Amino acid sequence: MHILRYPHPTLKHPSKDLKRVDAELRKIVAEMLDLMYDERGIGLAANQVDLPYRLFVLNPTGDPQHKEHEHVFINPVISHRRGNAEAEEGCLSFPGIHAPVRRPEKIVVSAYNLRGEELHLELDGLFARAVQHETDHLDGIRFIDRLSELAKLAVRDALDELERAFAGERRRGIVPEEQEIASRLGELESLRT
Ligand code: ZN
Repeated sequence: MHILRYPHPTLKHPSKDLKRVDAELRKIVAEMLDLMYDERGIGLAANQVDLPYRLFVLNPTGDPQHKEHEHVFINPVISHRRGNAEAEEGCLSFPGIHAPVRRPEKIVVSAYNLRGEELHLELDGLFARAVQHETDHLDGIRFIDRLSELAKLAVRDALDELERAFAGERRRGIVPEEQEIASRLGELESLRT
């Protein structure tokens, strides 16, 4: 398992609801958490590791010593968006890029955890922002898709560089062709969604 970088097409793939939680899924989640902590992130969505499932892991502290802040969101749904706030965001799929993003300040999110229990959380601040960022991933929306025109200009060079690196990996056969990626995602979807 590794983290896909922009402009990998799976980052634009809308994820599908999971139908069951089993040992294999718990293993996937454990790997995602390890990877998130290793890369010093606070959240990681399944399609960032090339899996087409509505699932993300999150720890607003980013600290593996603080497991009490660790959350797994399965099939999340956001409702009751209120307020409006702008803050700097980054993303493990966009190394080195940070930009201000405007989002609702407070949300309610419903989801299932790994025990299959339904959660309803009222969130604000960084936690609310991170849940919105990760839920966007599951809808195929990258944080750069939410930037103002000015902020887009400011990150253009950095995005160009990631695009060049990606094109190089594709030429060397490290990244599969579009059709191969799509058929693999389709197979994974038919297994558990
Ligand atoms: Zn992200």
